[in-house]
Amino acid sequence: MRQSLKPEQPIVITASDHHIKAEKICSRSLGIIKKLQKAGHEAYLVGGCVRDLLLDHEPKDFDIATSALPEQVRKLFSSARLIGRRFRLAHIHFGRDYLEVATFRAPHDEGAGGQVNAQGRIIHDNVYGTLEEDAWRRDFTINALYYNPVNGEILDFVGGLADLEKRHISLIGDPEQRYREDPVRMMRALRFAAKLDCKITGDTEALILPMASLLGAVAPARLFDEMLKLLHSGYGLKSFRLLDQYGVLEYLLPVTVKSLKHDQDGQFKQLLESALQNTDNRIAEGKSVMPPFLYAILLWDEVSRLKALAQEEGHPEMQALNIAATDVLRKQVQHTAIPKRFSNITREIWTLQPRFHSREQRRANALFNNIRFRAAYDFLVLRAQSGEPVSDESQWWTTFQEVTAEERLLMYSKTGKRRKKRRPRKKTGT
Ligand code: ATP
Ligand code: MG
Repeated sequence: MRQSLKPEQPIVITASDHHIKAEKICSRSLGIIKKLQKAGHEAYLVGGCVRDLLLDHEPKDFDIATSALPEQVRKLFSSARLIGRRFRLAHIHFGRDYLEVATFRAPHDEGAGGQVNAQGRIIHDNVYGTLEEDAWRRDFTINALYYNPVNGEILDFVGGLADLEKRHISLIGDPEQRYREDPVRMMRALRFAAKLDCKITGDTEALILPMASLLGAVAPARLFDEMLKLLHSGYGLKSFRLLDQYGVLEYLLPVTVKSLKHDQDGQFKQLLESALQNTDNRIAEGKSVMPPFLYAILLWDEVSRLKALAQEEGHPEMQALNIAATDVLRKQVQHTAIPKRFSNITREIWTLQPRFHSREQRRANALFNNIRFRAAYDFLVLRAQSGEPVSDESQWWTTFQEVTAEERLLMYSKTGKRRKKRRPRKKTGT
């Protein structure tokens, strides 16, 4: 590999010295970069896409970094919209899709907010900077490579190429400071280690365990987003194990960690691992996955435990289940916020479970037609596989879906429970 190295100059890898093929580049991003460069701005592909192209992975998105200010980007592209107050970015729209164009930023300097300096303008938290400064404020060396698809050159200011070759994940700069600035970088390190099969090195690795508690101060909504990226990365099982191993899990899913601690027979672990593996398989097959399902699994053991307690206190099963669900969801959202639209579905998956017992025609059909039947049934199957005593139900419902409507008639229980006649309410004194 031919490399030119001058002090304070990036390592430059020319097109003939790397194997990124032009046809792998999203043509829309190429068009945007050409237009920006033609208008006199610097523009590069940056971050995950350059890293993934070099590793022969399919990039998730093609992010662009430019010297053009957001306003200038907006003027150049009629479909550009500026978003974000803290970090102003341009989204260039193509129908329902968009590409992100970010102005070079300098590392965040505590005292700098609101001032103007020679290199960059500062607006709110936006400290615009040079290309080199933009590289230094990124998280890991392998995420700070810049690719110019017009001349084919890759620029490396931080030793990212060498780390990529060794498959090393290392923070740029002082690891302690970088984790302190943004503890979510710990979760990102573990995500990339799982997804890219890389090794986290030196203090970038050693500081995760002692610094993991800083995640407790991160906004629960951001943790939820990051958690989903980990669990739905296609490497959810591996990511989960790393989160556990590095002591990070207890700040994200304390309820789950507690369940795992008390999981004497390994039944809950088995449920969790097979759900995560299933999710990974579905993603590999291009099938859809839904966040509420995984949360239903992650919190199930505690829900079952609290449900049993509520039943012991005399609550009927459904009521007990609802009490438990409310309690567990309330505890969980204090750590990673689950949006209501998701937690409602999680709750539905749980509350449909007891309904699988009934084989009476009217009830079975009502359950089958429920919008959450599929998710609740998948949940039931995993429970059965993990050793919960629901294999009869799981088997019955599997058969139910495989047979014809006539054959179903033979499956329904003949002695469906009759509804008890309601006793007339007693009038109570006022
Ligand atoms: P993925 O393939 O998961 O999208 P990615 O590296 O592209 O991986 P993004 O979250 O899309 O991850 O972020 C894009 C880029 O922005 C990163 O590659 C990195 O350079 C920078 N970045 C993202 N999050 C941080 C952070 N918390 N601190 C510093 N830089 C970050
Ligand atoms: Mg990305």
